[in-house]
Amino acid sequence: MSQEVPNAIDVRNAVKRYGDFTALKTISLSIRDNEFFTLLGPSGCGKTTLLRMIAGFEDVTEGEIFLYGEEIEDLPPNKRPVNTVFQNYALFPHMDVMENVSFGLEMLGKPKAQARARAGEILELVQLSQFANRKPSQLSGGQQQRVALARALAPQPKVLLLDEPLSALDLKLRKAMQLELKHLQRETGITFIFVTHDQDEALTMSDRIAVMSAGELQQLGDARDIYEKPANRFVADFIGETNLIEVTIKSRDATRVLCAFSNGLTLTCDAVEGINVGDRVHMSIRPERIKLRSTKVETENFQGQVVENIYAGTDVQTIVHLQGGMQLAVRTQNSETGRTMTFEPGAEVFVDVEFGSARLLAN
Ligand code: ATP
Repeated sequence: MSQEVPNAIDVRNAVKRYGDFTALKTISLSIRDNEFFTLLGPSGCGKTTLLRMIAGFEDVTEGEIFLYGEEIEDLPPNKRPVNTVFQNYALFPHMDVMENVSFGLEMLGKPKAQARARAGEILELVQLSQFANRKPSQLSGGQQQRVALARALAPQPKVLLLDEPLSALDLKLRKAMQLELKHLQRETGITFIFVTHDQDEALTMSDRIAVMSAGELQQLGDARDIYEKPANRFVADFIGETNLIEVTIKSRDATRVLCAFSNGLTLTCDAVEGINVGDRVHMSIRPERIKLRSTKVETENFQGQVVENIYAGTDVQTIVHLQGGMQLAVRTQNSETGRTMTFEPGAEVFVDVEFGSARLLAN
């Protein structure tokens, strides 16, 4: 019988207070072995605090943290089989790349020759072998970040913690490093816990994402779940772009509800547990799930007028004015790519919300 692999991390009812201020309010989550896991949320939501609690740099006020089944919150940082990559790289400026990577191994008691051999292997993995004799100041930001990664990976931690490691890089390099990090995680099989406030980065890289806000876990799921089925208004708004519209529930059956907007228009959408007739709730409609047409094809198509088009390279965001002062953002592919039509400002259009794409949010 195969033995079940324990979770890399189990956080159980963890609370963090700084004096009177509660930075984390009873967080419980599990991170699987060999997972690329991301803590995502706006500045101040507590993601770094949670990461630092896993690393051992912060005490846990209440609750427990387990690493591969072993309770760790009383272990000092250097006794935990984890390593951290920081945003500012924190390389030793007077050491060359090889020394930066092998130093930590020597500190852990590895003989110098072995430490260097291991450092050599890991520099090859991050494609820095040819820079082994350079000082950090002689490297680009991306190369410095790869040295920091190599240094953190060299002792083969069970879990690698990455605290906004790409935020100092320009967009192009950042995108390239996102792919490299993902490959590195796959190649090493080490569990990565990655902190970012950048939702695109989180969606691209992660096996699963924990969305946090104000010290609380808002939703945990894979990229598709979080984008397509946001658990609440915060997640719908924070992840991607959306139209958030207040609606009143007019009627419902087991699977469908009829929702009315403030301007009297109605739209049928999938029922959500806990939302009942008479409730006023928010509906999320993603801009790319709306089509604009010159003719009405469905009974629930709304008539509107194009206000403006905002050009964004591969696609165009069109703002459409509906009756009663309601506006919708619609994302269509750039007409110059030949796939869809862009309507000029002032054009009368019919707005077709793809069936099943409007989502009701219980809170
Ligand atoms: P950022 O993306 O800006 O780093 P974050 O989500 O990582 O934000 P944390 O650094 O975890 O946020 O901080 C969470 C909250 O705890 C913030 O309101 C912060 O001001 C507060 N905080 C963090 N460290 C301390 C401290 N040592 N003493 C008091 N409050 C703190």
